[in-house]
This record gives sequence, C-alpha cells and structure tokens, in this order.
Amino acid sequence: MNEDITGGCLCGAVRYRCTRAPISMGLCQCERCQRQSGSAFLIATVFARDAVHFESGELKIYAAYGADGAGLYRHFCPECGAAIMITLERYPDIRSLMGGSLDDKSLLRPTFSLWCDSAQPWLRLPPEIELFAGYPDGLIA
Ligand SMILES: [Zn+2]
Ligand SMILES: [Zn+2]
Repeated sequence: MNEDITGGCLCGAVRYRCTRAPISMGLCQCERCQRQSGSAFLIATVFARDAVHFESGELKIYAAYGADGAGLYRHFCPECGAAIMITLERYPDIRSLMGGSLDDKSLLRPTFSLWCDSAQPWLRLPPEIELFAGYPDGLIA
C-alpha cells in the first residue's frame, strides 16, 4: 500500500490517518454493536496500534466489557456521536477503526462476521464472508 488510509467523524472534528495496511476487516453482528451503530452490524477495520495516528479532535470513550469479561472501549466523537474506534484490553496492540468512518469506503473488504447468532434474520451476507456464531479464539477483530 502506497497511500495512507484517512478517515474521520461525521462533523469533521475527529480526523485520523493510518500509515499501514489493515490487518483484517470484519463485521460484528452482536447486539451491542447493533445498538451502537443503530444498524444491523458494525464494520471493524483492524490496524496495528502504531499505524493509527489521530490528527485532530478528541474522542470520548464508553467503557464496557466483551463477552470474555475483558475491557472493550468504544471511542466516539462527543460532538456528532459518530463511532470511530474500538479498543480491547485483551489486544492492546491493535485499533479497530469503524469502517463507515473511512474516507474511501471502496477499501472495505470484510472477510468474516462475528456473532452471527444474533444476526438480523433478513440479512444475507455474500458467501466469501466467513460466518462465526460468536467470537472464535485467536481471531483478532
Ligand atoms: Zn464529530
Ligand atoms: Zn459486536
């Protein structure tokens, strides 16, 4: 990848730049991600921690806990409420940026989906997306 991946929130206060390619991209259909996104799923675009640089704005954090009981932190813009990033206590070296916050959404290529056991029954994902009932051990998202 030659060009940085940039993105930000709805109001433009928060801006970020990623200087390396993402590690993985996936969907989360858990009930809490449905609630946060206001939609059927959330798109997680996973980068190495040191590849993600925030250039402006401030993030507010909603701290919660994942299914494993470890800390799960949802970072959002306090001005417009846009979801920007999830960080996980269990995986301190990664940053999951929300796919919808990328400037160039043609870069989004999710390859898996988590928590399909709480998926909306009308949602049909393409066959190239691997489906997991929950959150498989060893997967980083
Ligand atoms: Zn904003
Ligand atoms: Zn989720």
